[in-house]
Amino acid sequence: MISYKFRLYPNKEQIERLNKQLDSHRWLYNQALEQRKTAYEQKSESINYRMQAAWLTQQRKASNQRVKAVNVSTCQRTLKRMDKAFAAFFRRVKAGETPGYPRFKGYNRFNSLEYTYSDGIKIKDGSLYVQHVGNVRIRQHRPIEGKIKTAIIKRKADKWFVCFSVEPGPQPQPGRSFKALKLLRTEESVGLDMGLFHLVITSDGEFFDAPKYLRKSLRRLRIIQRCIARRKEGSNRRHKAVNKLQRLHDYVANQRRDTAHKISRKLVDRYDLIAVENLNVSGMVKNHRLAKSISDAAWSTFQDILISKAENAGKMVVKVDPKYTSQECSGCGKIVKKDLSVRVHECPDCGLMLDRDVNAAKNILARGRRVQEST
Ligand SMILES: [Zn+2]
Repeated sequence: MISYKFRLYPNKEQIERLNKQLDSHRWLYNQALEQRKTAYEQKSESINYRMQAAWLTQQRKASNQRVKAVNVSTCQRTLKRMDKAFAAFFRRVKAGETPGYPRFKGYNRFNSLEYTYSDGIKIKDGSLYVQHVGNVRIRQHRPIEGKIKTAIIKRKADKWFVCFSVEPGPQPQPGRSFKALKLLRTEESVGLDMGLFHLVITSDGEFFDAPKYLRKSLRRLRIIQRCIARRKEGSNRRHKAVNKLQRLHDYVANQRRDTAHKISRKLVDRYDLIAVENLNVSGMVKNHRLAKSISDAAWSTFQDILISKAENAGKMVVKVDPKYTSQECSGCGKIVKKDLSVRVHECPDCGLMLDRDVNAAKNILARGRRVQEST
């Protein structure tokens, strides 16, 4: 599953209606919680999801205004959410912990509506139709590739978003059938190195950089982080900065996904075989250096998206052992030791001179070819 997040621009009336929807669902959530709590405390009985779903149907039949003008399956998903919170609570009780009882949701604690696509929600003529709300303006900055399974509308501060969960798969495009997509073979292969200075470096000597807007956000991220480090623990000012940091983190993750989508689209269109380094996840967790952890996160996002796009297009991504890819000479195989500050690979044996990252990408490609041949 890949997720796509788009900003929504509801008008004044639509905002009112969306807030009303959230309010109805919050009421439903709290009501369901109340029922379980009372049953448990007064009669030591437990109420399950099925019983509450039946209760919901009854309420709708009885024309309860709260649950009349809302989408049914979205209501069921709200009940399921409460059910999950309960299950988690009992799991912790069983494990001998003393967890907090699931909480009633206040206005600021209930901010999302979950839909089964396309039941009550649908992209239509460039806007997002939402049942009982209308056609909401959406800024869909990239096409969705695959089948939309669920949609979640979110309220965050004063902004609105929709997140689609998409099952990657061949997407019928106008004038370009799946069959044609499969036949788009180029017979070309490429190795990719991912660096700190450039996002992606190819064995063909091509460099993909993070777009300016992403670099700008990363700079802001570092500034806020430093700011937090300076502020006193537990202080109000620090708390504020931490909040700001969290919001910026979300924002950066989204920009990063966009970038990864764009670059991997280009690569998948152009190459049949793509070799990448097998990222050592356990090694990544141990590394506490900030710059490193940020780029690691970027790389795994990029790889995930690249792989799913390649699968869609019937192309291949091979993961190779990352050991010594930057030290080995891609011309003759000699190990040429160099630390991170040395940007050029210069081989004393065969005389090859290359950008260090391009040299690494060439090694990755050679290993990828070997892997492919052996399978
Ligand atoms: Zn050499």
